[in-house]
Amino acid sequence: MKRRDIIKGLTALPVAYGVMGSVIPPDSAVAASKVMAGAKRNLFQELGIRTFINARGTITSMSGSLMHDYVLDAIKDTSKEFCMLDELQDKVGERIAEMTHAEAATVTSGAFSALTLGMAGILTGMDLEKVERLPHLEGSGMKSEVIIQNTHKIHYNHALLNCGVKLVYVETPDDVDRAVNENTASMHFLGSALLRGKINYEDWIALSKKHKLPATIDIAANIPPVSNIWKFNDMGYSFVALSGGKAIRGPQSAGILMGKKDIIAAARLSAPPRGFNVGRGMKVNKEEIFGMYVALEHYLRQDHDKEWKEWEARVRRIAVAAETVNGVQTESYVPPIADHTPTLRISWNTNIVKLSGDGMLQALNNGDPSIVAYGGGKNSIAVSPWMMLPDQVGIVANRIREELEKARV
Ligand SMILES: *Cc1c(COP(=O)(O)O)cnc(C)c1O
Repeated sequence: MKRRDIIKGLTALPVAYGVMGSVIPPDSAVAASKVMAGAKRNLFQELGIRTFINARGTITSMSGSLMHDYVLDAIKDTSKEFCMLDELQDKVGERIAEMTHAEAATVTSGAFSALTLGMAGILTGMDLEKVERLPHLEGSGMKSEVIIQNTHKIHYNHALLNCGVKLVYVETPDDVDRAVNENTASMHFLGSALLRGKINYEDWIALSKKHKLPATIDIAANIPPVSNIWKFNDMGYSFVALSGGKAIRGPQSAGILMGKKDIIAAARLSAPPRGFNVGRGMKVNKEEIFGMYVALEHYLRQDHDKEWKEWEARVRRIAVAAETVNGVQTESYVPPIADHTPTLRISWNTNIVKLSGDGMLQALNNGDPSIVAYGGGKNSIAVSPWMMLPDQVGIVANRIREELEKARV
């Protein structure tokens, strides 16, 4: 039986009852308990949800990254007892701060929430009235402007706007000097735009010091290299926002806010468990906090050279398979800043292989198993192997060769 047919069979029953009325039929409960007691459930299959091999990277809409077993163990083990959330954040924060060379740290619900909470901390300090007032800055005595380079425009900056601030765009150091005024709260830097702006992250922090303003940085997607985890704390950035569910492979809904003690303490006033603030909807419970902690601990300890070589070997294996097809070329490269991992571009002569890049992506997507690659051009695609499971690399190599071969005239 095809998977699609099984899924149809499963969904037909509840839909039929749904049409008849809202009463739960007695056999439904029986059927449900049978499912629960039976063999291990495949929930993806039960709900008809396509799973796939990730040849793309750490993308939120694709559910990010896969947690290692030690993270899942931490989540499961800590799910059996209660503890006070603030006590846990205090203790985990201290350990994370030590590991990251920060004065203080706290687990947030992703880098985005780290940006909002850090911004809130800068604006409010320890003043609870101000915390309660956010995001309404007018007449509050809080500052309201954040200076940022116009090359650092990115939709994630909305995390700062959530605190009611306005972004003031600059291009040169002179622009910064002109932009600073009594309403300036901070100067923000986008890690992944490092090569785009006129002012680099060292000059940015120097400028912030000159103007006695906090400098903040979003490095959500800037790991690897592992050294970025502590680099910007060492440099003295006032807060650093880091994704937990990208390279570090912690819980997808977790991140880290780290930086100066007073800012992190103030940021926590805008975070759960307190509920009179902008951050109450950004909850992380104990399992995610422990999971994030364990993921970071392991990540810092792991052999990064070995992992890099493994990714390169994956790229080579896929390249070799693709190039067996006449008219196909490959090029391996490493994106310089964000998603800085070995990546492969596969391109082909469309006189020999009659297929567009998008056609190739679709064929891979529709295959079994489904594979999600990206960057579909006129005659090329891109493949990032770092989020694949080890036994998926050969499958991807074969499927790509198969589709290229099929389209060859
Ligand atoms: C992914 C990303 C974020 C958001 O990170 P989350 O951990 O998903 O909240 C913010 N900024 C940049 C530059 C990113 O790449």
